[in-house]
Amino acid sequence: MRPDLFEAPDYYNLDELLTDEHKLVRDAAREWVKREVSPIIEDYAQKAEFPMQIINGLAEIGAFGPYIPMEYGGAGLDQISYGLIMQEIERGDSGVRSTASVQSSLVMYPIWKYGNEEQRQKYLPKLASGEWIGCFGLTEPDHGSNPGGMVTNFKDMGDHYLLNGAKMWISNAPFAQVAVVWAKDETGRIHGLIVERGMEGFTTPETHNKWSLRASATGELIFDNVKVPKENLLPNKSGLGAPLGCLDSARYGIAWGAIGAAMDCYDTALRYSKERIQFGKPIGQFQLQQKKLAEMITEITKAQLLTWRLGVLRNDGKATSAQISMAKRNNVDMAINIAREARQMLGGMGITGEYSIMRHSMNLESVITYEGTHDIHLLITGMDVTGLNAFK
Ligand SMILES: Cc1cc2nc3c(=O)[nH]c(=O)nc-3n(C[C@H](O)[C@H](O)[C@H](O)COP(=O)(O)OP(=O)(O)OC[C@H]3O[C@@H](n4cnc5c(N)ncnc54)[C@H](O)[C@@H]3O)c2cc1C
Repeated sequence: MRPDLFEAPDYYNLDELLTDEHKLVRDAAREWVKREVSPIIEDYAQKAEFPMQIINGLAEIGAFGPYIPMEYGGAGLDQISYGLIMQEIERGDSGVRSTASVQSSLVMYPIWKYGNEEQRQKYLPKLASGEWIGCFGLTEPDHGSNPGGMVTNFKDMGDHYLLNGAKMWISNAPFAQVAVVWAKDETGRIHGLIVERGMEGFTTPETHNKWSLRASATGELIFDNVKVPKENLLPNKSGLGAPLGCLDSARYGIAWGAIGAAMDCYDTALRYSKERIQFGKPIGQFQLQQKKLAEMITEITKAQLLTWRLGVLRNDGKATSAQISMAKRNNVDMAINIAREARQMLGGMGITGEYSIMRHSMNLESVITYEGTHDIHLLITGMDVTGLNAFK
């Protein structure tokens, strides 16, 4: 892969809306991605392997629990800093951002919000430092968009719970030490359980042959009469709203992350358009290519504004789930369209691993599907504005 020459577009001077701390955090993440991710990520994507050596660096830039209080090892940052870190990581690769999102919003967040003090003390510092990696088991083979239909369940055996079932499409599963698993009790109510690698009957087979998120490990979680200690149940929230609360936090991070992928594609195409000569001039001088670039920067700028405002609402505790859905849906769609256009602008070079665009393009096919598909988020917006539920 070529040297990383990324320069972030900021067409509406949005940096002026950021605090010094935001810029410091963002710039540190940006430098780290340039130094540690860009030089190696194409190779790891090609061989379909997560680069384990970057775990410590992710922890150091605050990517594991950016907004988790410092007393638990988190970075204690606000929601905009969290978003900016996700943006920078996904500028490098959506698979790496997925690992950070899962760790922060789908594992640390539920332990912090729904766990008790012993659970927080036991798990959060190790997750924040990257000593332990976590995964989040909600999706099942027969229940994706409709997680409330899940069949994974646990029975109260007096001194422990007995967990049975299976989860599918789980990011980080093949190497995670800890899994936050959503399962139904004997009354059908959903609870979160912390399952640890090594518990008898718990296995995590890897999912192979992905054309997307190749630098992120995906797998199944299989529970065959797993004895889960009673103290591993998250006591402070149950029902479908508990996993959905985690998804709000992760989807918010994805909305920022998608901007990173789009910025990288735009920046690459812009540079290429000035260097690549056809018919005696740089291709950037042709109106058709300018149209693509002009539309890209317009869409990126709109997404930046939408997401910054969402960050302000999140900081004030006022962002609704439907507002987060709108940003996730809009920004991922924006990014996938930009990746497609940018790839065309590079002609044949666009399909090679010399440039990041094809990898972003393929990665975004997962990002537009996970954490609620494009269509599901549209239905959430539709339900919010009409008050009528299309899921029933
Ligand atoms: C790489 C990757 C990593 C993932 N990581 C995780 C993870 O870490 N943890 C986890 O729990 N899950 C994870 N997922 C799962 C992901 O969240 C699901 O794939 C997603 O929710 C969609 O579920 P599904 O694949 O079963 O599709 P389905 O739900 O079967 O949907 C198929 C199609 O039907 C459409 N559809 C469904 N219902 C409706 C409806 N009511 N109206 C209109 N259209 C509808 C969908 O939009 C979609 O287009 C991951 C997925 C991928 C691909």
